Amino acid sequence: MVFYRKYRPETLEELDSEEVREKLLSILSKGSAHALLFTGPKGLGKTSAARIVAKIVNCEKLAKDKKLKTKNQSEPCNKCSQCVSITSGTNIDVLEIDGASNRGIDEIRDLREKVRLSPARALKKIYIIDEVHMLTTEAFNALLKTLEEPPAHVVFVLCTTEPHKVPPTIASRCFQVAFKKASRVELVRSLTRIVKSEKIAIDQDALSSICDLADGSFRDAAKILEEFSTKGRKKVTKEMVEQEYQISNISSYIDLMLGFLAERDAKKAIQLVGKLIEQGVDMKYFLEQLIFKLHNLLLDRVGVIKNLQTSLSFDIQEIKELTELLTKASSQLKFAVLSQLPLEMTIIQWCMQQGTQVEDEKKAPVTQTVQDLDPSTRATFLSTVDDIWPKLIEKIKPYNHSVAGLLRGCSLKNFDGKKLEVEAKFKFHKEKLDETKVRVLIEKVLEEITGEKVKIAVVLKV
Ligand SMILES: [Zn+2]
Repeated sequence: MVFYRKYRPETLEELDSEEVREKLLSILSKGSAHALLFTGPKGLGKTSAARIVAKIVNCEKLAKDKKLKTKNQSEPCNKCSQCVSITSGTNIDVLEIDGASNRGIDEIRDLREKVRLSPARALKKIYIIDEVHMLTTEAFNALLKTLEEPPAHVVFVLCTTEPHKVPPTIASRCFQVAFKKASRVELVRSLTRIVKSEKIAIDQDALSSICDLADGSFRDAAKILEEFSTKGRKKVTKEMVEQEYQISNISSYIDLMLGFLAERDAKKAIQLVGKLIEQGVDMKYFLEQLIFKLHNLLLDRVGVIKNLQTSLSFDIQEIKELTELLTKASSQLKFAVLSQLPLEMTIIQWCMQQGTQVEDEKKAPVTQTVQDLDPSTRATFLSTVDDIWPKLIEKIKPYNHSVAGLLRGCSLKNFDGKKLEVEAKFKFHKEKLDETKVRVLIEKVLEEITGEKVKIAVVLKV
């Protein structure tokens, strides 16, 4: 079983975020919560937390302890039949509903009917509605009626990655818990749990590096740790992590990139991006490091820190503008078809706009348009990313209709020229695509299209 599933938190104590732990504890200790709204990005443990809530509400041991008032216990026992069946997903009174595929009025009406029935075995029925923002307006209205007069035997846990799409009428009836990206300290805490249990030999520094790479996601951190744990029995060091993720010589690239940006040299900057991609440098990490460096420069300019060894000529206004652009690029990264695109766009925008010292004639001529780039850079820039997906489906059809149909049911998650990541909505789609025969066919067609060896990776939509 993969780490992040195996080590899914089973108690409040095991949740990554201290803020979430405390908030839940305070809500649940009052004992009257009928509806909770969990908000925040994917991979931060909303569903796990929802299950913990279900257990705390229904744990047989906890109920007994409370009745006897023996202990001020707040964690589920994870041993009684209620806890065990919730963990295994077989508890008939704990219903997990995917808002995306049950978004209509009929489904919610059906739910309203069933909500009235008492739980079969548990103390309370728990409805966990994932991606609740996907519900239609009519469905929301129907749900609202239930939330206005919730039966005493029901607890709703609504989860969403897009809280702004949840109507205020619904949100205001829920206790809201915001799941935020975990800090490095919180991630290290969570990974340490896995390291101990799996007896993985790893340096503390290496663990920190992994947590930096994971960018606040426990799921990602656990995945990276798992990669290293399966590599053999050698102790994992910081150097190994840096080598694997090509982050060791990044600092020299950071300086180089900032130098090009200071000169507003789009061509050299974009060529450098190409080189980074070739070497497998993680763009998110690179962008973050650029922003960190600019932040240090800013502190240097305003005199907060001293002795920063740098020859970069940015003034405060330029640092501010560039930081804003890079921050924007970083936030666009997860929707980018090509991971280098946001940075390349930033480079173009930055280099095309005049510097703040407009009158400065010493400045090198500015690259004006994409056409000014050398042909190979331009090719990368304007590559066929947008149509790789339709092309792939089209070209596969003559070989195998059903694979083409299968791909149509999936979506393109990422393509960086070397690896094409496909997101499958259903497990059986993923399984089919993972078959060697199918994989070989897809990779062959991808090579026909791009002229390069491209690997395919299939991930399951979560
Ligand atoms: Zn229990």
